[in-house]
Amino acid sequence: MTMQISSKLPHVGTNIFTIMSQMAMQHNAINLSQGFPSFATPEPLRELVYHYMNEGFNQYPPMMGIPKLRQQLAAKTAQLYGRTVSPDNEITICTGASEGLFSAISAVVSAGDEVILFDPAFDCYQPIVELNGGRAVHIPLTSPDYRFDWQQLRDTITPKTRLIILNSPHNPTGTTLSATDLDTLAEIIRDSNILILSDEVYEHIIFDGQTHQSILCHAELAERALVISSFGKTYHATGWKIGYCIAPPALTTEFRRIHQFVTFSVMTPMQYALADFLEQSPEYYLNLSAFYQQKRDTFCYLLEESRFKFTPTQGTFFQLLDYSNITDQSDVEYARYLTREVGVASIPISVFYEQLPQEHVLRFCFAKDDATLQKAARRLCEI
Ligand code: PMP
Ligand code: GLN
Repeated sequence: MTMQISSKLPHVGTNIFTIMSQMAMQHNAINLSQGFPSFATPEPLRELVYHYMNEGFNQYPPMMGIPKLRQQLAAKTAQLYGRTVSPDNEITICTGASEGLFSAISAVVSAGDEVILFDPAFDCYQPIVELNGGRAVHIPLTSPDYRFDWQQLRDTITPKTRLIILNSPHNPTGTTLSATDLDTLAEIIRDSNILILSDEVYEHIIFDGQTHQSILCHAELAERALVISSFGKTYHATGWKIGYCIAPPALTTEFRRIHQFVTFSVMTPMQYALADFLEQSPEYYLNLSAFYQQKRDTFCYLLEESRFKFTPTQGTFFQLLDYSNITDQSDVEYARYLTREVGVASIPISVFYEQLPQEHVLRFCFAKDDATLQKAARRLCEI
């Protein structure tokens, strides 16, 4: 007898980042697909990790994270976003933004709830909603500016809407929320019980003089929001998988009810090291936007002579390139072709949409050293 296993996520295959990174390796292509930096994690931060490991900080830390790291995050939140949050009752350290998103959605979404996502939506949102018995309802962001359409949000909200998931700066389009956007959103949900989940992992990568409008900047929205961020992007340490959730006490209580059984707690020496580094080197996250803006500008400059069309991204370390002047192949086919035949791997963005978009657009990660960007751009300019 063969055992029958009914899938809880029958429509889900291996995620696109794994597929494209594997394909890049197989064809020895320059990997601008999955978003990870080629830069070293800052040496003083690594030294702090060795220090705490060697000093014996290797057993379970508190379930919610070590006090100093939560205190440092509270101080940063007050300074950058003007909100006072309690390190004890409103901040939880989690295993990357990924676990934060999982625990947050699981904490608030029940069977039959509707959750509104803006497409292209980061790949894990919908499966987590579905695992909790919820239904994802999609609003597309469309080119060229991919702005959030608030009228469409008004039209999409129903009595079943439980949660709206936002992501700013937005992966993969780079679009960002403005202070006016937040006011409009607050007005739309004012008389409802709708909660906000705000994925802000690119909070320190925003360009052209904009300041990141965290949901935490908006007192009314922050009262009903879970804000998720990650140290992975900020410290060139995507493999460390450490993030955090900031939410008002009642939501934090629910968040921790899940978090404690998903992972219990997060690597001890890294938490101590990050707490010290946040305190000692705030310039690191304060200067990150300038660092990445230069990378963006280099990449865009190198592609000026290419047949791709693009608008420089407003945030994140991703640049969208429109290839409609080159071919009408689907983005999945063209991404495969580029990896195989041109030696540059990218991410097709249609996989993040419920309804196949009209655009012919691929996402390229420019978090790479200049030599890699030059080599990739040379290949793309030869097309
Ligand atoms: N949200 C977004 C928008 C992301 O791009 C990523 C991936 N890096 C994550 C969440 C997951 O972050 P982490 O690696 O910290 O789990
Ligand atoms: N966030 C990264 C990206 O968008 C990758 C995340 C992952 O590999 N799961 O490319």
